[in-house]
Amino acid sequence: MAKKGRYCSFCGKQESQDLILIEGLDACICTNCIEKAGEILQHIKIEELTRQNQQVAEFHLDKKPKDIKAFLDQYVIGQEEAKKVLSVAVYNHYKRIDYYTTRTDDDVEIDKSNIILIGETGTGKTLLAKTIAQLIDVPFCIADATVFTQAGYVGEDVESILSRLLQAADYNVAKAERGIVFIDEIDKVARAVDNPSITRDVSGEGVQQALLKLLEGSIVNVPPEGGRKHPEQKFIQVDTRNILFIAGGAFDGIERKIANRLNTSIIGYKKESKKINKDNLLEHVSAQDLKTFGLIPELCGRFPVITHLNPLDKDALKRILLQPKNALLKQYTKLLELDKVNLKFEDNAIDYIVEKAVELKLGARGLRAIIEKIMTDIMFDAKPAKNKTLSITLDYVTKKCEQVFV
Ligand code: ADP
Repeated sequence: MAKKGRYCSFCGKQESQDLILIEGLDACICTNCIEKAGEILQHIKIEELTRQNQQVAEFHLDKKPKDIKAFLDQYVIGQEEAKKVLSVAVYNHYKRIDYYTTRTDDDVEIDKSNIILIGETGTGKTLLAKTIAQLIDVPFCIADATVFTQAGYVGEDVESILSRLLQAADYNVAKAERGIVFIDEIDKVARAVDNPSITRDVSGEGVQQALLKLLEGSIVNVPPEGGRKHPEQKFIQVDTRNILFIAGGAFDGIERKIANRLNTSIIGYKKESKKINKDNLLEHVSAQDLKTFGLIPELCGRFPVITHLNPLDKDALKRILLQPKNALLKQYTKLLELDKVNLKFEDNAIDYIVEKAVELKLGARGLRAIIEKIMTDIMFDAKPAKNKTLSITLDYVTKKCEQVFV
């Protein structure tokens, strides 16, 4: 039972079963006011951080495209074309920033090299963007295009992408202004008219228009804590001119659009069709195909660099398990080593896992799903020091997979 007669000294509300009061020496405070006070403190903290971080050391990229590619090679298997294109685009992007700090008004304008990566899920799109940001040590954030809606719908405002970037930069605005934003699932905001596989257009063109504003290079009012704009939030102004946007998407069915275009151009220009790789039409993807898929021309124009990622075959998947610096098997081996257990995957067990991952059609994500299922029990039962070597056999892996992936 709530005590009668006690009131919050801040808002004046009476204590009740729904409103707890905390008593101090000469005053009481209710839980609502405590929450409000917490929010105010958070705003003050962010403002303080933003002020402290106004001054940043100059940034200069001292890596050449070949260095960037070599770094990517340590983490990303295959995807040679994408790695090359990305390395050059990122190099040019940061060179452009250098150029703009010294150029005079009548110098040549250099356009920004925002990038679109097209490829099936789990082929390394996010990994590529993340790894590059790690190498050049700039703030990085991932935003999912599907959560954005045009004003008026329930969802996040497009500006909240920049809130995440600010958070990644510890509210250092200058640092955030040369960061990298990865926009995932950009294909899902394609216009419904051109894309029969999308049945609703809650986001669609409206979101594309909103994204344009960020990509064009403008001063954007960013709600520091993300989400929808609240009138009481103080905005932080962020200039997006030097932010590199990398977008990724599977663009399901775009091959048909590419094939149609190529067929027409083959007839039109009498090109020889054998130059076209029919097994991987994505190699020939162009801005034209993105438009027919449902991206508005203005948005395509803001992504001058387009590249593709290949589907991962068995060989690539096996290498992904074993080779990268942070390969999954290396990670688990290390984890068990800390428990003094020597983990060994037998060769045929690895081949089986790879085949299962191909069946799952989730790219390298399938590998992680399988390995995690297998390793959970093993890690649960692992007995330190007693079992010096633990072999994962084909038999064990088959049984586990049959239980889980039927
Ligand atoms: P998506 O293409 O859907 O963005 P991700 O980059 O998120 O895929 O990949 C999911 C996970 O799969 C990554 O964390 C990474 O471990 C692994 N992976 C995917 N592709 C590759 C690749 N080409 N080389 C190494 N690992 C990869």
